[in-house]
Parts: sequence; C-alpha cells; structure tokens
Amino acid sequence: MAQIFCVANQKGGVGKTTTSVNLAAGLAKIGQRVLLVDLDPQGNATMGSGVDKRALEASLYEVLVDATPVAQARVRAERLEASGCAYDVLGANRELAGAELEMVEMENRERLLKTALKAVDADYDFVLIDCPPSLSLLTLNGLCAAHGVIVPMQCEYFALEGLTDLVNTIKQVHANLNKDLKIIGLLRVMFDPRITLQQQVSEQLKDHFGDKVFNTVIPRNVRLAEAPSYGLPGVVFDPASKGAQAFVTFATEMVDRAKNPANAVTA
Ligand code: ADP
Ligand code: MG
Repeated sequence: MAQIFCVANQKGGVGKTTTSVNLAAGLAKIGQRVLLVDLDPQGNATMGSGVDKRALEASLYEVLVDATPVAQARVRAERLEASGCAYDVLGANRELAGAELEMVEMENRERLLKTALKAVDADYDFVLIDCPPSLSLLTLNGLCAAHGVIVPMQCEYFALEGLTDLVNTIKQVHANLNKDLKIIGLLRVMFDPRITLQQQVSEQLKDHFGDKVFNTVIPRNVRLAEAPSYGLPGVVFDPASKGAQAFVTFATEMVDRAKNPANAVTA
C-alpha cells in the first residue's frame, strides 16, 4: 500500500514545491517507487520535474473533472532517468484552476482525488501531493486522499502563528472527512544557522511540537533555487550540494518513519 502525503502550507513561497520535487527525487534515488501529484494550477512541480506542463496530453484536471484514470494521465519524469532519480508525475497546468468551479457541482467533490488514486495504489511506495498555497477545494482533495501532511516552514518570527490555520483545517478534515489524516511532521527549510533568530525559532518549534519536527533540516542553498530553471530537482541538478544531500537524508528519514511505526508520529 502506498503512503500518501500532502506537502502543504497555506503560505506561498515557503518551499512546498521544492520539498515535493526533491523529496520525490530523493525517495526514487533510494529505490522507492514514487508518484508526484501536482495539485497547484501553477504547475511548478510538473515543470520542476522536467515535464512540460503545456504539452500534457492529460493532467490532473481530466482526472478530477472527467474521471480519466490516473494510469492514463501520469507521465514518467524521463529527464531524471539517467540519474536514477526518476518518478511518475500526475501533472497540472492552468486548466486545473477551472476544475475548482466544476467540482463544486460534483458528488463526493472532496474525495475525487482519493478515489482516483485507489486504482494506482499498488504501483507506488509513496505518493506525494504538492498543494497550492490556499485551503481550497483542491487542497481539501489532497487532505482527504492523504495519510499525513508534511509541513515545510521557514524559521521566522511569525512561523508558529502561521501554522494555526493549517492545524485547524487538518483537525477539521480529520474529524469530518478523513480519520487517517495526521501531521507527519514539520520540516525546517531555507535554514540559515548563522541567523540567531532562526535558531531561536527552531528551538521553539521543537519545544512546541517535539517529535513532530523532522530531524533533517534543509539549509538555504542557492543550487536548490537554481535547479527549477533547468527543469530539474536540486537532487539531480547538483547532487553534491548541501541542499541536495539534505533532501536525500530527509528521504531516508521518511522511509524509516514509514517502516517503523514506533518512529511514526501520530496526530
Ligand atoms: P512554494 O511551493 O511553497 O510556493 P517554492 O518551493 O516554490 O515554494 O519556493 C519558493 C522559492 O524559494 C523558490 O524560488 C525556490 O527556488 C526557493 N527555495 C526553496 N527552498 C529553498 C532553499 N532551501 N534554499 C534556497 N532557495 C529555496
Ligand atoms: Mg509551489
């Protein structure tokens, strides 16, 4: 059975897509079968995996709105094949923005993605869902389909307050729609240990959330920021960089947690 995780945070620019593509590539690198679902109409995770969002024959839009099977709409991130980091992509583009309106009228509108993913469950060890920066019906579909949420966050002054909305949404979804859903963990990203405030917030996070803070810390690293313009995850673009190495370590941490229920963090 695949472990299905949303990468979510209602703020934009906090590293959701960077986390999604690099965790996908990192997991593939250590031998895991991965599907990356791009739930953001911006299609950044699609492009960042080397898949042209404008050339998709079918995308997540058709899966949600026309019930096209995932097996038909998914594509292989072929450019990552040579590095041994390839995974499958269920891509997105601007069309997906229109899906939201069309879905409102549909039966079981929160569970369309969950239903669609059931048919490919046996094909993967991990399904990662890159969420848009909102708590929309699309994000709700991600949260209903998932076993858990990975929350990337920067260690900034208002970091804790910013989490409240997301935590409340996750609690509501847990109570009403998906009793499996839990926060798997908070991932500290774009971390700069030279900045005292970041260290302080990082300590606060650990005090507050304990084991729910992942051990791995993702440093601020320019190679991770450059990689998307080459249509590659940082893990493939510059495997020797500190950022790439951190994401492979994070992939290992995720596999350990998934394998060993004693390490798994519960809601
Ligand atoms: P989101 O998906 O949450 O909007 P992104 O993953 O697109 O956020 O990241 C926002 C910006 O920050 C992008 O330009 C990305 O390249 C950059 N970025 C993300 N993580 C890092 C990092 N660890 N080091 C340096 N730049 C980063
Ligand atoms: Mg994004």
